[in-house]
Amino acid sequence: MTNRAYRTILPVLCALLAGGPLVSQEAGEGSAAIPVIESLTFRDKAFMDFLKDLEAAYRMTARREDFTPVFYEYTPSDKDDFISLNARFSTPASALATVNRIETADESLAGRTLLIPASPGLFAAEHPETALEYLIAQRYSNTGQKNLKKILVKNMIFWYNPLDTLSVEERSFFFDPSMKLPLKDVLVSSPFGDRQSPITGQWQRHNGVDLAAPEGTPVLACKGGAVEEAGSDDTLGNYVIIEHPGAVKSLYAHLSKIAVSRGDRVKTGAVIGEVGETGAATGPHLHFEIRINGQAQDPKGSVKGL
Ligand SMILES: [Zn+2]
Repeated sequence: MTNRAYRTILPVLCALLAGGPLVSQEAGEGSAAIPVIESLTFRDKAFMDFLKDLEAAYRMTARREDFTPVFYEYTPSDKDDFISLNARFSTPASALATVNRIETADESLAGRTLLIPASPGLFAAEHPETALEYLIAQRYSNTGQKNLKKILVKNMIFWYNPLDTLSVEERSFFFDPSMKLPLKDVLVSSPFGDRQSPITGQWQRHNGVDLAAPEGTPVLACKGGAVEEAGSDDTLGNYVIIEHPGAVKSLYAHLSKIAVSRGDRVKTGAVIGEVGETGAATGPHLHFEIRINGQAQDPKGSVKGL
């Protein structure tokens, strides 16, 4: 590694798993700064150092040698997005996304200063917050990842695995986060939020959107996932709940027919039933909800075209 690289290790505290505390490698230097890449050109010293460090990290990873990841900082321009930055730094998407806690590839990076890891691998947040981090944490707890390094960088703690990368499910969540419309043609007849109930006349919260459509219109899964419930009750009528990656669920109610069963795995756009007016409905329509971490959210926020 370059001399510069050794200095960049200084702000990074690390320790082997072993249940021990984080070991400081600061050696009394205080808040040694992370080197800043100003421009992605060969005239930029930090950028050249970064490329050398990245190459060294790939080599050490291939030889299964132990090393501590090195970071640089870069502030994207308004034109940059994750895909373009990832290509220009030639650093794996898994490392760049996870250490910056970016949830989806289309997330705006404007005004942020990014950490650019000069290493492959994946940084699993010790305290997951985003949907992507929950997915990774779930996989780690299922597979019992071992021999990970605990890294403290910019007050965030990660488990670092130089050999890991995003799983197929995590990649598809990260790169294609959008949800599709649950009907081919949508006509919003009642939006999300507080409204006067058409049944009781009382003001109440409407936890989804109502989409008017003729009885029998196919209802489509807004995103791939597993059918968590396919049932019936007085209010929702025949309904389906699909569980998607990252603590996201979608609900489809007042169906005339249900075409899936509990436990089925469905793909985005799969037909899961037909529009009807079962339950507390005043006419044929689809009541469509999105719940994130158990809270109903305005589907407009996650479904393009609503
Ligand atoms: Zn409704």
